[in-house]
Amino acid sequence: MRLGIAIDSRLCMACYCCFTACKDEHCEFGSALSAPQPMMGQFWMDIREWERGDDSRRIKTATVPTPCSHCQDPACVKAARDGAAYKRPDGIVIIDPKKAKGQRAIVDSCPIHAVYWNEELELPQKCTMCAELLDDPDYLAYLGDPKLKVPRCVEACPNNALVFGDLDDPSSEISKQIASNKITQLEPLSGQETNVVHLNVPTVFFAGTVYYPKEEEEVCIGAKARLVCKETGESWETETNYLGDWEVEWLPKNKKVSVEITQDGYKPVYYETVTDSDHYVGMTYLEKTS
Ligand code: SF4
Ligand code: SF4
Repeated sequence: MRLGIAIDSRLCMACYCCFTACKDEHCEFGSALSAPQPMMGQFWMDIREWERGDDSRRIKTATVPTPCSHCQDPACVKAARDGAAYKRPDGIVIIDPKKAKGQRAIVDSCPIHAVYWNEELELPQKCTMCAELLDDPDYLAYLGDPKLKVPRCVEACPNNALVFGDLDDPSSEISKQIASNKITQLEPLSGQETNVVHLNVPTVFFAGTVYYPKEEEEVCIGAKARLVCKETGESWETETNYLGDWEVEWLPKNKKVSVEITQDGYKPVYYETVTDSDHYVGMTYLEKTS
């Protein structure tokens, strides 16, 4: 059994319920697996958000709840002395609250900055995936599967953005979610296997608005936007909506793509660009074919 959490950025609405549940669980009491989490300055479930877009006409936000990834080959375990950080047989990575005292190197080792330094206790601290609760026969938070207890953050999420389960079981809900969504590993951990799996983290979007000829100033509904990346062989197609807007999400980063806008009875518009950042390409005015 390998326990993990799938985190779907598309479903996360940044309500902070998971963050609050984590604080509720870990701030007051410690356990053999962690000292209490300070109320301020530590974010064992860190809701990382950023603004996307380069034009006020198309701005979006990205939300990536980020606890420790519980890596399969954890850098923090390698940095720890005397077994102060270790991986359990179920895959959960723990920092021992006694042995880790004074070991600041454990904080510095984590590629995604998921370990925090407790100045008062001189202790590195992080998410335990609520292992102390999962081990507790008296803890009874189940979701769906009556045999599977879940961490507090997962139980608290009102939008099912967090799914907990056995990654080794292909029939588990978490395995199904991972199989049917885009896995988007956090960049500092790319190439590594982790027990926290991020799904649908935004990459790059392109968007634009299509108008009929300038003198008409009317939005064009149903125009086709086709993007092609020769390097990866991928292509994307969409149509303008009732506002004349089109948008393509999850483009590969830093690739050359061609954009073609077509509408029956009008000259096609074609240009090439690079997916170096989220980009509103602006307004495209079509010209009638003569
Ligand atoms: S994400 Fe950081 S703290 Fe968590 S297991 Fe990996 S290296 Fe350790
Ligand atoms: S509880 Fe769920 S929806 Fe709310 S911030 Fe956490 S992951 Fe996102």
